[in-house]
Amino acid sequence: MICMRGVHPPSGTSAIDKRVAIVTGASRGIGRAIALKLAQDGKHVMLVARSQAGLDAVAAEISASGGSAECSVCDLADTAAFAALVENVAEKCGRLDILVNNAGITKDGLAMRMSDEDFDAVLHVNLKSVFVGCRAALRPMMRARFGRIINLGSISGINGNAGQANYSASKAALIGLSKTLAKEMGGKSITCNVVAPGFIETDMTEALGAQIKEQIIPSIPLRRLGKPEDIAAAVAFLASDDAGYLTGQVIVVDGGLSC
Ligand code: NAP
Repeated sequence: MICMRGVHPPSGTSAIDKRVAIVTGASRGIGRAIALKLAQDGKHVMLVARSQAGLDAVAAEISASGGSAECSVCDLADTAAFAALVENVAEKCGRLDILVNNAGITKDGLAMRMSDEDFDAVLHVNLKSVFVGCRAALRPMMRARFGRIINLGSISGINGNAGQANYSASKAALIGLSKTLAKEMGGKSITCNVVAPGFIETDMTEALGAQIKEQIIPSIPLRRLGKPEDIAAAVAFLASDDAGYLTGQVIVVDGGLSC
């Protein structure tokens, strides 16, 4: 179900004069930081996740700092609902300039014990929903001859990671998808890039526990875990008008861990 709750919504179906961005997984973590940064940069942000309460809290933060945002509750596992959401946003706002596919899930386990269900579930949310969302976004972006698509990958998708066969495969495939879209859409001035975080302090890495995090830090040249804002800064640049000659790239933001 898609449930829109506006904070400073555009009135009726009239086009709005600022760039419109969709950010998935915007209820917390990296997606929340991306949404706040894009709003701070003057974009109208459509926040997407499953938790209405989480989205409302982020929308309220954006509103309090003078930005504009709306919330759409959507489970990305329902790819048809997500495609409809993307189409609705483009129609209602009269434009869709930026799509940030940030939502992602893990269902970790060693490959020899990983169930088909856990493999498929991760591929479905992390990869298929991204493809479906991009496909729906391309039409309005092509009409405008402008678009910025940013997909959240992971260093696990570049290097692999024990216990994450499903997650690493999904993030590796996102790179192939993104480079392909960059090649297909470059002629329409639509860019598509991947931001690949290292270890970032969010709910996703909370499960690692304090001891493991402390063990990781010495192997990071910048000697700290990343903050969601570190990722948001890279995404915001790729989403900006200034990044018009940058496409098909994987920007690794990991404090130097994989250098
Ligand atoms: P997180 O803290 O677990 O947050 C995940 C976000 O995605 C939440 O807003 C969640 O909201 C949403 N979400 C999850 N499943 C969803 C679904 N089926 N439908 C709609 N929304 C869904 O994750 P994060 O650490 O911020 O990670 C964000 C992205 O960065 C992910 O793609 C992740 O793979 C990538 N990444 C993270 C790290 C890291 O160290 N944290 C490292 C590399 C890559 P609801 O629960 O409200 O739906």
